[in-house]
Amino acid sequence: MREDDRYDATPYVPDGAGLAALRRAAAGCEGCPLHRDATQTVFGSGDTAARVLLVGEQPGDQEDRRGEPFVGPAGKLLARAIDDAGLDPAGTYVTNAVKHFKFTRTGSGKRRIHKAPGLRELSACKPWLLAELRAVEPEVVVALGATAGKALRGSAFRVTKERGVPLPLPDADGAVLVATIHPSAVLRADEDREAVYAGLVADLRVAAGALRPD
Ligand code: SF4
Repeated sequence: MREDDRYDATPYVPDGAGLAALRRAAAGCEGCPLHRDATQTVFGSGDTAARVLLVGEQPGDQEDRRGEPFVGPAGKLLARAIDDAGLDPAGTYVTNAVKHFKFTRTGSGKRRIHKAPGLRELSACKPWLLAELRAVEPEVVVALGATAGKALRGSAFRVTKERGVPLPLPDADGAVLVATIHPSAVLRADEDREAVYAGLVADLRVAAGALRPD
């Protein structure tokens, strides 16, 4: 057996647990090697009965240090976009497809540079995401970027082709999936940043429109 075949969080995920117990258990996950270099597990947070659950890629540098998702610049931009899309920020839950920060160091070793998680890490960490989906039972799941889309829809997912439309989500019974870009793509945009941001908000409006009437 290759070492990759043993990457799997399943043994660490308590059956039928609520979010608080899942968060505690995830703190000790060693389901793949990413726990070795990261500071801590960054589990999801937000409304435990959220109607909208948003999934990013992985924690960034600030999230890794603080232990909370979406607390850096991309998180602040996402909060603004959620508000601009007419969603209630207090009624959302945010998490990541991978719960530990993957990075490389610069030559001097001082700076940590984000490195995208691979399919084996996505697959290893997916049991945590599934457990969050079962616990929160959202109506709408938003995939923020290609990595989250691949985690939820498989490796053939292409965010450029499938963003901004409600899609079925077999992993969450009764919920629909809406994909969009990751908020960090807005921050990275060299030109037309406002247009890129407007695209993110437009996709989030589709998510708002997919909610069941009150
Ligand atoms: S990235 Fe996921 S599977 Fe890997 S150690 Fe962290 S919590 Fe476990």
